Amino acid sequence: MRKPILAGNWKMFKTVSQALSYVEHLEGLLAEIQGVEAADVVICAPATSLYPLHNQLEGSRIKLGAQNVHQAEEGAYTGESSAIMLKDAGANYVIIGHSERRQYFGETDESVNAKTQQALKHGLLPIVCVGEDLDQRNQGVTNTLVESQVRAAFSAVSVEDVTRCVVAYEPIWAIGTGMTATAQDANAVCAHIRTVLSDLYGKAAADQIRIQYGGSVKPDNIAELMSQSDIDGALVGGASLDPGSFSKLVKEA
Ligand code: PEP
Repeated sequence: MRKPILAGNWKMFKTVSQALSYVEHLEGLLAEIQGVEAADVVICAPATSLYPLHNQLEGSRIKLGAQNVHQAEEGAYTGESSAIMLKDAGANYVIIGHSERRQYFGETDESVNAKTQQALKHGLLPIVCVGEDLDQRNQGVTNTLVESQVRAAFSAVSVEDVTRCVVAYEPIWAIGTGMTATAQDANAVCAHIRTVLSDLYGKAAADQIRIQYGGSVKPDNIAELMSQSDIDGALVGGASLDPGSFSKLVKEA
């Protein structure tokens, strides 16, 4: 059985004080949800809020994630954060290769792979994002594209390490647009990703790896997505910004 994982991606939103009052509110709301411990609940916050959140969340069920990591151990990379720094600041997870990073910051399959290896080396659990844009979907190359992104992201990653990773299937055309893939279409791509992982690492390992769907997930569509065989959770942008809607989403999941 794979443990569901619901991760909020705050992107570049929330100051430290807003972040602290959000998690205080969220903790209270999660405490009212029966069986909430059956899922991992993760907040991927801006780097500036990780350490204050970590201090406030001691002993909490809410886990922390970063939104990016640099692939080098340390060095002259102005503006970047290393895996060691993020782990030290309290992150358990890190989003790698989000489509906004690929689109605006030049991330490639190669850098996604290097970042994935670096995160794993320092005990951060990668949430590796893959997904097609609308043209690629219309051309019918979704599975081919996603397969090559998955193969590249996990190149030289061991079977022990890959089972600690989460894959987030995020069709780019569904991110922040209000357009969601149908649960069946999303599941078909997630199942394809699992087949690729099985081909790379064997069925036993592939069956352990959690695959999320992301793209305009909301409280009213999460239940159907979660009922699918190969969707083990969600990476949530807009609907994670308000503790009320995020906790509702966790409850519906
Ligand atoms: C995301 O940022 O990963 C995302 C899926 O955003 P949204 O839920 O707003 O579509």
